[in-house]
Amino acid sequence: MQFRVQNLIVHKFGGASVKDADAVRNVESILQNCLVYPAVVVVSAMGKTTNKLEQVFSTLVSDGYDKAFEELNEIVIAHQKVIDSLSIELDLHELFITALKKSNVLDDLDAAYDELVASGEDASTKILYAYLYSNSWDVEWRDVRGIIETDERHNSARVDESRLDEMGLNLRGLLSESSRRIVVTQGFIGKSPSGRTTTLGREGSDYSAALLACAVGAEEVVIWKDVPGMLNADPRIFEGTQTVEELDYSEAIELSYYGASVIHPRTVKPLQNLGIPLIVRSFMDLNAKQTRIARFPGQIPSFPMYIYRPNVTRLSIGPSDRSFVGEDHLTSVFSALDDAGIHVRMMQNSAVKFDIIFDSNKDKEVKLIEKLGEEVWSKATRGLELLTVRYGSEELVEKLTAKREVLMEQKSPSTVRRLLA
Ligand code: ASP
Ligand code: MG
Repeated sequence: MQFRVQNLIVHKFGGASVKDADAVRNVESILQNCLVYPAVVVVSAMGKTTNKLEQVFSTLVSDGYDKAFEELNEIVIAHQKVIDSLSIELDLHELFITALKKSNVLDDLDAAYDELVASGEDASTKILYAYLYSNSWDVEWRDVRGIIETDERHNSARVDESRLDEMGLNLRGLLSESSRRIVVTQGFIGKSPSGRTTTLGREGSDYSAALLACAVGAEEVVIWKDVPGMLNADPRIFEGTQTVEELDYSEAIELSYYGASVIHPRTVKPLQNLGIPLIVRSFMDLNAKQTRIARFPGQIPSFPMYIYRPNVTRLSIGPSDRSFVGEDHLTSVFSALDDAGIHVRMMQNSAVKFDIIFDSNKDKEVKLIEKLGEEVWSKATRGLELLTVRYGSEELVEKLTAKREVLMEQKSPSTVRRLLA
């Protein structure tokens, strides 16, 4: 029998919610208002730090250590500014430089990438921890590498979800020591069997929060966003968006498969398996509407859902001898996609070719073509747009895509999807 910690909630704060000193103060005030003790607080890297670290990494690969060191220094300075403004005692210089040094000596590029970019989450969690500690919270910092074990697939590592209960044992112990305890830990990263840092793929912190919730048997997970819950469309693109207040797990999984970017695609499934609700709410307005993703069998949103995905690539592939695309070919295609870490947004097959639509990513595309081998021809069309309308009318879709060139269309009674040039 496993023991459980009562009333435990996992909170996840993304990059935007910890982007500067004021944002960190806001996280504290949210915890003050909403905390049912104890809690696990999962944090992403501050603001756009992960993008910047990726940039430093490509400099390391192309121009070497000294140049990368210079660039990294800007990230260090930005973090130290936040630290000074929060009046906490912390020096992150060593943390970042150690990550760069470790990254520099690794031959495997993906492993080297993971080692460096993980420093963003190491830094942000240290800052939040130190701030909460300085304000007398009963808070502990735990390295998530001691909790979440992944496979060796660097850059898009996988977790054996059937082992989460075992992985969470020590964390449950730590949380049960005090009824007001908070544990701050990193999202996005884990540890491989050989002891190396791994990452779960970009934007993976939501998934980390879900994994940790399953590992500790949480009551619910709250993902704090800069939007009031899950909206029926991206407010940067569509006007008059509405919050979906209740959403069934399966519907949420479906929407994230189509490309709804509010939550990371892998997040919902493990929570559905254990019946742990996922709440999406705004860190900017505690009174705003929120979304509860849980078991709402058969319930569908009462208004159309629009999922717009800019910058997708269509990769058409087929056997080089122009033979038929048989099941044996398809098996190798799917395993190549998996190896390349590509999340398929849409696919379509004919007798002689197979079209795969995914978020444009040149590195992954190259990796995929390499994995597919010489017996396969391929043709990529990049910079396309994918629009999915769920629970809308035919007329609505026509109106939205008027005067656009439709390269591919898929329809079901509930959903219309169009790939646009
Ligand atoms: N910091 C990582 C990223 O920006 C993970 C996350 O934010 O979820 O991709
Ligand atoms: Mg982030």
